[in-house]
Amino acid sequence: MMRMVLLGPPGSGKGTQAGALARRRGIPHIASGDILRANVKEGTELGRRAAPYMERGELVPDELILDMMAERLAEPDAAEGYALDGFPRTVAQAEALDGRLSERQQRLEAVVYLEVPEKELLRRLSGRRICPDCNAIYQLETMAPRQEGICDACGGGLIQRKDEQPEVVRRRLQVYARETEPLLDYYRRTGLLHEVDGTIGVDNVLAEIDGIVKGSATEAAGKRQA
Ligand code: AMP
Repeated sequence: MMRMVLLGPPGSGKGTQAGALARRRGIPHIASGDILRANVKEGTELGRRAAPYMERGELVPDELILDMMAERLAEPDAAEGYALDGFPRTVAQAEALDGRLSERQQRLEAVVYLEVPEKELLRRLSGRRICPDCNAIYQLETMAPRQEGICDACGGGLIQRKDEQPEVVRRRLQVYARETEPLLDYYRRTGLLHEVDGTIGVDNVLAEIDGIVKGSATEAAGKRQA
């Protein structure tokens, strides 16, 4: 059982780490951005409403996100835990998640914040490519696909996200600072926040997070026994 949240600015490596951790622990990797992009691609009502915000690098309104996430978290595969990536992104969303958890007498085990300087974020985001078929993430300089333009995992054609043009990236970083950074204090107050240097390399970051997750599991077991 492991419920955790990966926090950090766009480009901090949340998606890569949440994906790796989820595979390792056998829990779903739930990325709000992936769910939204799938809805846009399929042309659903949610996708049509969310797309204009996403294209500008703004946040999609909380009410749409909260309905979407309530539905996703109610799916059977999420009963035993999950790695959340990109949600919550506002204090209102974090409060809604807490409300949902406490209704079910559940709690988050850990919130991991990946800290990366802005200059590095800009560099990473400009070289990011994603697979629209399986959501795998690549970075042309540091995590390039084996064959240029082709997804290692599923053979899909890699694309650059529409919201990773420089103007939109700058907007996303501003929105992050204004709307999402306050979550650090929110989770610090509850004692759940763990800060990890996101610049030490994918494998080292994963090892750090693994250590945090193991520590939280041991602590939780201790509390249950006490
Ligand atoms: P991401 O893939 O996490 O970078 O998300 C891409 C875009 O989807 C964001 O720039 C937002 O427009 C939207 N989005 C994703 N998650 C959320 C969320 N929790 N709240 C509001 N908007 C979101």
